[in-house]
Amino acid sequence: MKIKADYSNAPKWKELSVKSRLPEQLNCLDEIAHNLWWAWNYEARRLFKSLDEKLFEEVGHNPVLLLERLGYDRKEEIVKDRTLMKKVKDVYASFRAYMDAKPDTKRPSVAYFSMEYGLNQVLKIYSGGLGMLAGDYLKEASDSNVDLCAVGFLYRYGYFTQMLSMDGQQIAHYDAQNFNSLPIERVLDENGNQVVVEVPYMNYQVHALVWCANVGRIKLYLLDTDNDMNSEYDRPITHSLYGGDWENRLKQEILLGIGGILTLNKLGIKKDIYHCNEGHAALCNLQRLCDYIDSGLTFNQAIELVRASSLYTVHTPVPAGHDYFDEALFGKYMGGYPARLGISWDEFIGMGRENPDDHNERFCMSTFACNTSQEINGVSKLHGWVSQKMFAPIWSGYFPEENHVGYVTNGVHFPTWTATEWRKVYDKFFDPNFINDQSNEDIWHAIYDVSDDEVWKTRMALKQKLVTYIREKFTQSWLRNQQDPARVVSLLDRINPNALMIGFCRRFATYKRAHLLFTDIDRLNRIVNNEEHPVIFLFSGKAHPADGAGQGLIKRIFEISQRPEFLGKIIFLEDYDMQLARRLVSGVDIWMNTPTRPLEASGTSGEKAEMNGVVNLSVLDGWWVEGYREGAGWALPQERTYENQTYQDQLDAATIYSLLENEIIPLYYNRNKKGYSEKWIKVIKNSIATIAPHYTMKRQLDDYYDKFYTKLEKRFRKLSANDSKLAKDIALWKESVAERWDGIHVVSKDISVFDNGGETGVKYTLKYVIDEQGLNDAVGLELVTLKPETDPSDREIFSVHEFKQVSHEGNNYTFELEVEPDMAGAFRSCVRMFPKNKDLPHRQDFCYVKWLD
Ligand SMILES: *Cc1c(COP(=O)(O)O)cnc(C)c1O
Repeated sequence: MKIKADYSNAPKWKELSVKSRLPEQLNCLDEIAHNLWWAWNYEARRLFKSLDEKLFEEVGHNPVLLLERLGYDRKEEIVKDRTLMKKVKDVYASFRAYMDAKPDTKRPSVAYFSMEYGLNQVLKIYSGGLGMLAGDYLKEASDSNVDLCAVGFLYRYGYFTQMLSMDGQQIAHYDAQNFNSLPIERVLDENGNQVVVEVPYMNYQVHALVWCANVGRIKLYLLDTDNDMNSEYDRPITHSLYGGDWENRLKQEILLGIGGILTLNKLGIKKDIYHCNEGHAALCNLQRLCDYIDSGLTFNQAIELVRASSLYTVHTPVPAGHDYFDEALFGKYMGGYPARLGISWDEFIGMGRENPDDHNERFCMSTFACNTSQEINGVSKLHGWVSQKMFAPIWSGYFPEENHVGYVTNGVHFPTWTATEWRKVYDKFFDPNFINDQSNEDIWHAIYDVSDDEVWKTRMALKQKLVTYIREKFTQSWLRNQQDPARVVSLLDRINPNALMIGFCRRFATYKRAHLLFTDIDRLNRIVNNEEHPVIFLFSGKAHPADGAGQGLIKRIFEISQRPEFLGKIIFLEDYDMQLARRLVSGVDIWMNTPTRPLEASGTSGEKAEMNGVVNLSVLDGWWVEGYREGAGWALPQERTYENQTYQDQLDAATIYSLLENEIIPLYYNRNKKGYSEKWIKVIKNSIATIAPHYTMKRQLDDYYDKFYTKLEKRFRKLSANDSKLAKDIALWKESVAERWDGIHVVSKDISVFDNGGETGVKYTLKYVIDEQGLNDAVGLELVTLKPETDPSDREIFSVHEFKQVSHEGNNYTFELEVEPDMAGAFRSCVRMFPKNKDLPHRQDFCYVKWLD
């Protein structure tokens, strides 16, 4: 027998994580590093930086990695450095003071669910605005010291890192995160083992490890399926954000919603309110239904409790933006739920359909969210209205403007997005209680007491900082994708901090129209290359890897930026992330946004700019409809002039050019002897004084409490008291109304005014007698009159008047309404019957409607 020449088996690598030992005096730094509090505390960030400035850059400003890599000698040095140790002590003292504050137990408690969180660039679990909003929300919840916890995913790859090829093609890199070097912790059980949650998928379980990101006082629980308890099909569930196919998306949404609730159950956490940030997490309401039913309630009773404690925030303005699942795919994973709920499959999938009986409709997560949440809101006033219309098919008996969909306009976390330079100005001039009273415009008016010199000095310092950052950060990548080193040097030299700088930075979704500026290249050329009044445009943003059109826009802008006449004038900065965003929103002079109306649900980057004396130039869409004030920025009109999008684009582009040429550039360059424009400073001060106060995350959080949380908690408490007595009563009442609804009918009526016509100023009485089929005062009647529109499909309500129930005899209830027309015209009217009960929160909660003859 021949001896094998090569004989070995494969090694079984064991994971061994070696912790870098810190001297005892520095242990507190490890504690701070593992709490994202440092992400919005500039003293803490500065402290970490001063431990080893070069290393801090190398580790991408990640304090956990910094401490891990800190050399032995340096540690010794630090401990001996009295000044530095004093700072360590001071920062730790303020950290402890912050953490030890007693939570505010007067406000309702909240469990918050989101697919992404933008907390800091070192934790790559966000992609864009939605995540930024969720991250800012947790930080403010911490600052406001409310009782809130959150659930999300710990992505192995997160969202991609963006590079551009030599011809401007976006290249997406997915770098695996090493969880041990991130500012997160394992959640441990009483035996010291990491908590694992078993989430049912079809006939098996997926095992999710539970991690925790400490966001100040707030716990964000992060689920991670990338472990060897799971098969190769399930490990990737938490690999990447918005990656994979629809099956993986459904598996993610099962994990977030169902797994999220199971996680809280396992950790023994129960909150008053469950807040679903976008539809992705809507299945959390399904698990809560199951839990109530397991505890002995019927489906109809359970849904009362679930709805009464749920808020769904929608961020998407168009139906196409929601998640839809084919019945076959949905059934594959969800087939077992109807039996658990005690309802049929059709009833179950119908909860995700606009028309539950339409078997061709796919299951829509957002519709399911609407059907399982008492409260729903959009993210700006305009978007609230757009959402009322978008969801209108779910509540067919009502008109869009009657739908119970509210709004809270998005805001941004002030300490995260305000540059340190401005923080210092505000600290010096604003009321000391400012941080607790951020929405108080009077406090912000103190900006008028700051000298023009100081405002300009602050602005210039930040512009210079941005230019330096660009020079340092982008030299390497430009050498890679722009071939000629001499050209790169000349490009960097041509970034002139004294030029008017305009930023356009956000996701490259086509509706945001990044291309608008390039509608007339010659005109743009004249604007940027004016010798005396130069202008620089900075672009940055990622396109979704599946969005070919968005990537095409990046390529086009990159190509234009490479033309000799635009070199150093139109600049594309790769890999937009939170760090780059922070530099940009504070470094440019103008923040530009040009969405297609009304597709920008809110937008938040313009709000970040406001806190930094950066002025907005934007389409009146999203938050800017509410935010814009004359003399504090510029607005493109809200109303569409053209149906045809190409014409509209051309018109909007021409408006931007002429605003720049005739107003903005002359104003900016109207410089005094000191080198700045006093009128420009006035615009800056106006925007800080009158706009910024209304767009902080503090205002947003307070709005959620005032408009939704407090109301929900009050009603939920009523419904769940005494073994859920009221919930059971309402369920029983709804069941009896539903059973009799078709039989409830008109016995007699007197509506002769409709037959004969009426006159203004004369009173008429309408009368109906209704047989309520044994129900006791269970319906209401109202006269609905439409505006005298020319286009009948454009139905809008003119007035709604409710009838009085005047008497009853047995089953027969008499209703009367006195009307006195005060306007002449041809109106359309109809009488609407609806179930009536003072314990219902609103009409769409029990959306039965019968239009009477
Ligand atoms: C603020 C922010 C966004 C959101 O910007 P919009 O203007 O709302 O689209 C996206 N990405 C990053 C990195 C941000 O900081």
